[in-house]
Amino acid sequence: MANLILTINAGSSSVKFSAYRIAEGQLTQLALGLIDGIGAKATFSAKKSDGAKTQFVLDQSHATVDHKMALTAVLDWLEKEKLDGEVVGVGHRVVHGGPVYAEPVLVDPEIFRRLEAFSPLAPLHQPYNLAGVEAAIEAFPKAAQVACFDTAFHRKHPFIADTFALPRQYYDEGVRRYGFHGLSYEFIHRILRHEEPVLARGKVIVAHLGNGASLCAINAGKSVASTMGFTALDGLPMGTRCGQLDPGVVLYLMAEKKMNAEQITDLLYKNSGLKGMSGVSNDMRELEASTEQSARDAIDYFVSRVRREIGGLCAVLGGLDCIVLTGGIGENAARVRQAILENMEWFGIQIDAEANARNERIISEKGSPTVALILKTDEERMIAAHTAELLGLKQPLVPAIS
Ligand code: AMP
Repeated sequence: MANLILTINAGSSSVKFSAYRIAEGQLTQLALGLIDGIGAKATFSAKKSDGAKTQFVLDQSHATVDHKMALTAVLDWLEKEKLDGEVVGVGHRVVHGGPVYAEPVLVDPEIFRRLEAFSPLAPLHQPYNLAGVEAAIEAFPKAAQVACFDTAFHRKHPFIADTFALPRQYYDEGVRRYGFHGLSYEFIHRILRHEEPVLARGKVIVAHLGNGASLCAINAGKSVASTMGFTALDGLPMGTRCGQLDPGVVLYLMAEKKMNAEQITDLLYKNSGLKGMSGVSNDMRELEASTEQSARDAIDYFVSRVRREIGGLCAVLGGLDCIVLTGGIGENAARVRQAILENMEWFGIQIDAEANARNERIISEKGSPTVALILKTDEERMIAAHTAELLGLKQPLVPAIS
């Protein structure tokens, strides 16, 4: 029987999963799915790699579905669909590894307690990620549970890239610039090492531009700085998150608008960014299609902040050999990419407008001092690869992930 690896991305109201077969060091995706509406009437949908789709309302005898019921449904579905294999490892996306974890880790009761202690650092994500781990331990008791962190790739930052200008005690307590999207950056860098090994050894900026957005500066394979900070709110404006904000605005909202922590959280996480600025949508496609000036303003602001942060990270790196664009916007939004990368010749980036419009892999001119590339990210595959590597089922070296 083949060995299967499951990846789980558990949020407050949804669980995403993927199933992979691991054979001779190669991962093959067999299925992916989503249980949505956790905490209420949930729906289960899944698609196998042969194209067969399943969709149903989950357990109609219960008014609400929790993470445990969701994971049991995944187990039942895998058995019913005869995916032909035993789940030997479950890889979990866990947003926060705190200041400690720079690598994925096998979860045991002691590690689980440590990860719970990071919940105050990411209260909107960590508790649900861990609910997914608990549920998977029950549903797949024989499988190894592996926590893969969004913060881990950034843990080798130098002190000055990790700290705020606050009294040192706060840094010591864990108030640091952690950086996120690490699984995406790691995946992209592995692909780069495989496809463009010379560039990968140099100075690289990866722009993860999706509903969440951040940039990462990578030097000789190591993350040296990121635009995201203590939480996934900082840095670039995002679909619904504000990005960089003068903390004085928060003080003003508290003192003058009498807003409490919950209201400010709601504003900054759910009603700001492209959605808040435009009043139209958080979705780049809808903004591009809109005739509203506010939609154009939101796109212009997004573009200008990405450009500004590219400049900042380039200064951190001391030059730039390669810039990679990824995420839903980075991979697909040709006009946004063009606006981000044009008029940067002085800086070494010569964008090839036609290659960019055609979504080609390399979108800079031949001979451009900085090479600009589009690469598709795959965080699930990165989690599956980490899980397989930790279980000794896979060589950690590229090109092992394809
Ligand atoms: P992600 O979170 O990585 O799935 O990215 C979601 C974002 O990518 C949304 O803002 C989408 O509107 C945007 N996106 C996806 N496809 C396109 C496209 N063809 N053109 C413009 N934006 C796109």
